[in-house]
Amino acid sequence: MTTYIPESLRRQVMERAQERCEYCRVHQDDRLFAHEIDHIYAEKHGGLSQEINLAAACSECNRFKGSDLCSLDPMSNTVVELFHPRRNRWADHFRILDGIIEPLTATGRVTARLLRFNDADAVDRRRLLIETGRYPTS
Ligand SMILES: [Zn+2]
Repeated sequence: MTTYIPESLRRQVMERAQERCEYCRVHQDDRLFAHEIDHIYAEKHGGLSQEINLAAACSECNRFKGSDLCSLDPMSNTVVELFHPRRNRWADHFRILDGIIEPLTATGRVTARLLRFNDADAVDRRRLLIETGRYPTS
């Protein structure tokens, strides 16, 4: 069950994110569906519907993330927390390289894999957005 998030809080979260997905950074205007409000820590884990626990997410990132908090890092074979938009800085965990979101850390690796940042379609779309100046490259 998902708690109702008041419109004013939704707007606040979207404005803070400048209407970009806080995981893959795509702008809401460049997706077919409006971005969603993600509970970073899902309600079923006790995450609250408060600004500190909410992030703007595109429908794909939100769907792939689901209620997950962490995943298994293939390199270290340990359980690692997913990227947390309120606690982590994007540039500390990822960088853009020819349209690919390259992970820089274990957190980056598990997040990029689980949220499928670099599926072929996503990379093609991102390259096009970069070419047209619609995607941040730094
Ligand atoms: Zn996204």
